[in-house]
Amino acid sequence: MNKKSKAILLDRDGVVNDLVINSEEGLVDSPNSSGQFNVIKSSIKAMKILSKLGYKLIIISNQPGIAKGQYDMSEFLKIKRKLESQLHDSNVTLAGQYYCLHHPNAKIPKYKKKCQCRKPGTKLFFDAVKEHNIDTKNSFLIGDGITDMQLAKRVKCRTIFIGNINSTVTRVFHEKKINPFYVAHDLLEAANYIKKIEKTTSVS
Ligand SMILES: [Mg+2]
Ligand SMILES: [Zn+2]
Repeated sequence: MNKKSKAILLDRDGVVNDLVINSEEGLVDSPNSSGQFNVIKSSIKAMKILSKLGYKLIIISNQPGIAKGQYDMSEFLKIKRKLESQLHDSNVTLAGQYYCLHHPNAKIPKYKKKCQCRKPGTKLFFDAVKEHNIDTKNSFLIGDGITDMQLAKRVKCRTIFIGNINSTVTRVFHEKKINPFYVAHDLLEAANYIKKIEKTTSVS
């Protein structure tokens, strides 16, 4: 009765969907409109692999764009619907999506808040764990941000870092005593790694 589920807690931008280049500042950033939003093809493949392995797929994401005045709630919801429809078209189902819309220096007063949900705050993670009865010991948190790694450390969940380990990342990981379970270039590589270790550790 009440069997716990294992889950993959996914950061969104840069893991599930592409980041965009802000040409004005030359920076890589989160999409600010549904037109800029696109799920990464190989991430769909990855999510299928992870679903097949029995993981619930749950997004936990900081989205301070509304707070910063970059877009409004209706655009946020458009992006969310685009994510859902692109996944639906590929037969991938998300068990849940958890977003923090706050920012400590928000332009929009309603969202100006030092909240518990903005990662590395733990609220979104624990909300998801509670609502989906998640077995955190057998789950993974996957993200491309330092905050994702910090969150995983706080909640004692295995974590996979998506990205390249350059000298800056190495230094920050060292300073913050972050030690990811695995580092992958993209979600598909992460999914294949999880698949591999499930095979080798499963008792036959
Ligand atoms: Mg990210
Ligand atoms: Zn928040």
